[in-house]
Amino acid sequence: MRKISWLWLIIGLSTLFVIECAEISYDTLRNKIIDAERSVAVGGNIWLTSAEDKANSILMNAKRAEMAEGVKTPEKFPPAMHFFQGKQYLRQSEVFRIIQKLPKGALLHGHNTGMVSSRWIITNLTTLYNLYTCRDVNGLLMFTYEQSKCHSEVQNVCLERINAEDRRLYERQLEKHINMYTVHPESMITDKRKIWQRFYNIFKSVENFYSYQPAFCNYHKRLLEELCEDNIFYAELRSPLTPLYGDNNRTMNALEVANELEAIVEGFKARHPDFVGLKVIYTKPNQGTVDEMAQHLITFKQLHDAKPNFIIGFDLVGQEDTGDPLHKFVNELTDMPPTANFFFHAGETNWFGKTDWNLMDALLLNTKRIGHGYALPKHPNIWSTVKKRNIAIEVSPISNQVMGLVWDLRNHPATFLIAENFPIVITADYPGIWNSKGLSYDFYYAFMALAPAEADLRFLKQLALNSIKYSILTSEERRKINRVFQKKWEEFIYNVINLRF
Ligand SMILES: [Zn+2]
Repeated sequence: MRKISWLWLIIGLSTLFVIECAEISYDTLRNKIIDAERSVAVGGNIWLTSAEDKANSILMNAKRAEMAEGVKTPEKFPPAMHFFQGKQYLRQSEVFRIIQKLPKGALLHGHNTGMVSSRWIITNLTTLYNLYTCRDVNGLLMFTYEQSKCHSEVQNVCLERINAEDRRLYERQLEKHINMYTVHPESMITDKRKIWQRFYNIFKSVENFYSYQPAFCNYHKRLLEELCEDNIFYAELRSPLTPLYGDNNRTMNALEVANELEAIVEGFKARHPDFVGLKVIYTKPNQGTVDEMAQHLITFKQLHDAKPNFIIGFDLVGQEDTGDPLHKFVNELTDMPPTANFFFHAGETNWFGKTDWNLMDALLLNTKRIGHGYALPKHPNIWSTVKKRNIAIEVSPISNQVMGLVWDLRNHPATFLIAENFPIVITADYPGIWNSKGLSYDFYYAFMALAPAEADLRFLKQLALNSIKYSILTSEERRKINRVFQKKWEEFIYNVINLRF
């Protein structure tokens, strides 16, 4: 082996290694650099016990085999494919099976109306006798309990289902109205307006449907079940707390909706003692006048004042490129109670030097976490501050792909955040409307597409620990979630080693 002699400076995140190599082999130097990179990436600070080490070997054997296969048959390798096309292969993955069983901690970025699987909704939530479909003023199909909202002939869903020649086919047709899936996602990716239009249409279709109080309750009970089924034991849910209507002609206001949701969560916790809870980030559209924004913030402050440990913060939602910049509302947003937090969506864009300045405003407004932060690596002044101030980035790989920001997730900018051990959490955004569920699919993409090939169990453990660390919890809740995580993690390791999946 050729010996080389030079001065290498490898600058780590907090460490400066100076390796003066008088007589060091090329390969030794190479390995040192690889090790140095690994130690400064997400998971680099975690040490594994001997049991974890064994589980890690099983996981990594599966990962390496799947990656080797992926080089040979890239057309069947999900990490290099669009989720809509790769999911069929992903379901056969051993790595995915292990990730499904992984205790994932908390889901910190999900929007309530996009969280529950569309299949479950069509099969279980459209069975009440008084649910109808009809067209709205723009010809869009909507589900409604109130026929007065219709601009076309109404169809009773129960009767149509009974009369359908093929019940399953009928349900599949209905489901298309509340799901983003398309056989040819490549036809959508060039036109973001099309993607966002389809996305907004889904929520117009279900607006009246989900605002019916009994549907709201059943929907949110299912939401909690789907979290548990995916080994998630805490969530912070973005919700506009839209007023609900019932059979008694009375409308429930946002605070009453919050009370209703809290009661559902408490009931669920009583039946699932390991579930730590769910809290709400109050959301409003990112478009409007400053007066409207001022009004939203008055409502938020009242809600937060009434339920400070349940309504924990505020965020603005909608397509950032076409919405109003955060900067427009700075005066309204600077007057907040000290216990309330911002969790702004920011930098969910392909632009550089335009919409992405929302990242700067989010930072100046003291955001607790950043939703997406897709454009963050383009801004060295902003990302270095984000890191110093330990502001977590809520990374949603599948969402970014479905919404057209990136085709091949190996090119996702969070690769940089992972290599630099940023405080990231992996989140799901709207899993129910694109055939994902909980966090497993996003974790799979993070592990197989975003992280380095040799990222292992330490990476996955760090993601779970981060989700707990960056949650808004009281000290008592934190003690509980740590206890639950510890117990579930040990069970998980035992099951991996004993091939219990
Ligand atoms: Zn979001």
